[in-house]
Order: sequence, then structure tokens, then C-alpha cells
Amino acid sequence: MRRKDARRAPAVMGASTGAARRAPGGRGTQLRRLDRMDGLLYACKRLRIQRRSSRRRMRAMHRELWMSGAYDVIVIGLGAMGSSACYHLAARGHRVLGLDQYHLAHDRGSSHGETRLIRKAYFENPSYVPLLRRAYELWENLELECGRTLFERAGLVTFGRPGASRVFDGARASGRLYDIPLEEFSREQAIGRWPIYRPPEGFAAAFEPGAGFLYAERCVLAHANEARKRGAELRENEPVVDFAIENRQAVVRTACGRYTAARLIVAGGGWSASLLRELVLPLTLRKMMLGWFPATSDHAAEKGAPGFVFDLDDDFYYGFPQIDGESIKVAGHRRFEPLAAPEDKDRLPPSAQRIAPLRQFVRDCLPFAQDEMLRTSHCIYTMTPDEDFIIDRHPTAPELVFAAGFSGHGFKFASVVGEILADLAIEGETAQPISFLSAARFSA
Ligand SMILES: Cc1cc2nc3c(=O)[nH]c(=O)nc-3n(C[C@H](O)[C@H](O)[C@H](O)COP(=O)(O)OP(=O)(O)OC[C@H]3O[C@@H](n4cnc5c(N)ncnc54)[C@H](O)[C@@H]3O)c2cc1C
Repeated sequence: MRRKDARRAPAVMGASTGAARRAPGGRGTQLRRLDRMDGLLYACKRLRIQRRSSRRRMRAMHRELWMSGAYDVIVIGLGAMGSSACYHLAARGHRVLGLDQYHLAHDRGSSHGETRLIRKAYFENPSYVPLLRRAYELWENLELECGRTLFERAGLVTFGRPGASRVFDGARASGRLYDIPLEEFSREQAIGRWPIYRPPEGFAAAFEPGAGFLYAERCVLAHANEARKRGAELRENEPVVDFAIENRQAVVRTACGRYTAARLIVAGGGWSASLLRELVLPLTLRKMMLGWFPATSDHAAEKGAPGFVFDLDDDFYYGFPQIDGESIKVAGHRRFEPLAAPEDKDRLPPSAQRIAPLRQFVRDCLPFAQDEMLRTSHCIYTMTPDEDFIIDRHPTAPELVFAAGFSGHGFKFASVVGEILADLAIEGETAQPISFLSAARFSA
């Protein structure tokens, strides 16, 4: 989209930019049959972008960046996505300022609660698989750099009714399309292999050995610490009051000061609708509950227990191997309470009505666990209407890049989303196939 005069069309919180255009191509156009083809395409695109970034262009860009603000890039929000963006920008040698209203790895947003599932056989939409391939590589790199385990390759077993479960059938379809190793089991075979699970009659199981889980807070801290080691300035407990793009420069005001930069990235999680209100993104918030239930050591990750997903009629339940020596974390993906504002998340304790289905699931399907909930935590899903993410540049102020609407499945992508945000902010484009995540798909 052509950029208008920035003075006449500032990207200010609350100012309207008008509707964005519909992106060409649908989900289907993103599908790629071959792994190697994906790798090759990615490498070619990357090379093209690198070639275009000739030395002269790089010099000009850096001159522009250095002249136009105290920082090259300001990142608003240091959750899963923003901390990753800071890391990638700092690793490329840019001067980065990251701002968060709370401390790193806090529990008021969407990136806390110990663990997140990570898998490649993506039932939601196979278009995500190329992004997942890159996300896996980047998590592995980050693990090596920070020297801590971030990703437990425990595997993931998905239970569903073949032919009737979107989750089970979708995982198999993605697996076939992208040659992702998946082992299939009848109900009886699955119970024989994992006596800790009791799927309903008529269910089957698909096991993805390369899947597992990420330590959520550790990942956020690893990105933030590695960003700081590379020179990024990350300021915690400093809420952004407003921001604008003025004369092609980002101006950000916080409770403590005023900062300028050549580029701005907004990764505000549940606060995105208000931070980016002029874009009128179709985002809604859901309050989600996680519960920890006592379980025997048969559920322990070190004994080979995988993560699990059960696509039951009333909800899609999922859970994690035991990592604390006494309990397992279990949650339902579809059962939620609507949330007017992120600040309301912990205002009320969970009702018995919310806890009862989770306890029932534990009783019915996890014979080595007890249904007395030991503790609970709440977390925010920021939903888009189609449950796909939004990653884009502002339609009239390309200095502003944003990522929002991760719809309850974004954490596993944080490593690659940070890289994409850095690409969009600095290069103006990315080699990753993200057109299906454009904000323009919601315009009339
Ligand atoms: C219960 C639950 C289970 C989940 N399970 C999975 C899973 O198994 N696998 C998976 O891949 N994903 C999962 N997800 C989704 C995933 O956790 C989220 O998509 C991801 O954490 C979103 O990260 P974010 O950076 O967008 O948001 P956040 O981590 O919330 O970060 C946004 C940040 O912006 C900051 N901010 C906002 N406004 C301002 C302001 N004005 N000034 C300064 N800072 C500001 C906030 O303080 C916050 O730190 C789950 C989510 C939940 C809630």
C-alpha cells in the first residue's frame, strides 16, 4: 500500500487509517507439498532479499535509521513475541528499546503458566507448518545460546474420533502433507503403550514424537536476556501512554519519558486492541483457566510421558507431563469466559462451573491422576474471528509493524514471529510465507 504524507496521516493511537485491502490468495494457496521445497523457497527468497539489500542500500538504511531517532527500533510489549523481536533486532546489531508495563515473564497477560505445547502436525491450518519448521530451528539456537533447556521433546499424543475430529484428522492431514513423522494407534494399542490415558470408545491416537513442550517463562527470559547481552535496552514496569509516527519517526511516550526511533513494533498481546485502536482490529479476549491435578510419577516427563490432547465432544482438553514431581497441568481450549479488559482477568476466582468439566475430564480419561485441583491460574486468549494470527505493517505508516491475535496457539511460534517482526521493521518484507496472516483479510 502506498504511504501517504506521514504528517497528514500519523499512526497515532486511536487515529483511524481506514480499511485495509483484502490479501490475495487463501489458505489453500499457502500449502506446500515438500519439506525440501519449503527450505529451498525460503532460501531463495532470503537470498533475493539479501541481494536487494546491497551494501549501498544497507548504508542508506542505516544512515536513515541513525538520523531518525535515538533508537533504531522501539518494541512495545515484552511478552513472548516482543521479547523475541528484541532478541532478533539486537542480534542484527540494531539499537533496540523494549518497553513493558510489567516485569518480564509476569502473569497478567498470555505468556505465563510454566509450559506451552509445541507441535508441527498443525491441525488448525497446514499453512503454519513452514513457520513451525523455522520456529523449531530458532528455539534450538536459543537453547544453545542461553545454555538452558527451553524445549522438552516429550512427544505429543492426540486422541480423537477418526473421521469426526477436526483436531485428530487435521493433525494427520498436516502430517501427511509435510511428511511429519506421526505414529498411529488404535484405542487398545494406545492404552497398551500409555496406560495413563483412557480414551473413550471409538477413539484412536496419533503420536508425534518430535513434538513436546516449551518452558514459557524461561523462553521469554531467554529472549530478553540474550537481547540485553547484545545491547538491547529493556525497560520493565514502564507503561506506554501513547505513540505516534511523526515525520517518519516513531515517538513513544511512557510513564517515565519520551523516546524516538526509526521503527516501531507493537506486540501488546491482550492490550493490542487498545494499543492499535485506530486499526480497529477484530480482536476479542477470553479468560482461560489452567488447573494442576495430583498424578503419579507415571506421568513424569523423564519416564517418557508425552503431552496429550483429547478432542472430546464437549471440549478439546490438553495437558502436560509432570515436571514438579506431584501434579500435571490440564486445560480446556474451548471453554472460556469473555473478558472486557485484560485487567479483569484475576478479578474473580474460578467458579465451580468452570472447574467441574476439567475434574470430569481427569476422572474419565486420566486414571493415574486425581480430580482434586491443587492450584489454578488464568491466562488470556486474544482471538481473531478466524483464529489465525495478525502480523503486518501499518497500511499507511510502514514504520509501524504489529503482531496480535494469537488466538490461544501462538507461543510455539514466538521464536519465528520475532524474526519476522525484525524482517518487516528493518527490511520492509520477510521471506516467511505470512500473507495469510495479513490484517487486510478482515477488511470489507
Ligand atoms: C491458557 C493458555 C494456554 C496456551 N497454550 C498454548 C500452547 O500450548 N501452545 C501455544 O503455542 N500457545 C499457547 N497459548 C497461546 C500463547 O501463550 C500466546 O499466543 C502468546 O503467549 C501470546 O504472546 P504475546 O506476546 O502476544 O502476549 P503477552 O505475552 O501477553 O505480551 C504482551 C505484552 O505487552 C505488554 N503491554 C501491553 N500494553 C502495554 C503498554 N501500554 N505498555 C507497555 N507494555 C504493554 C504486556 O504487559 C505484555 O507483557 C496459550 C495461551 C493461554 C492463555
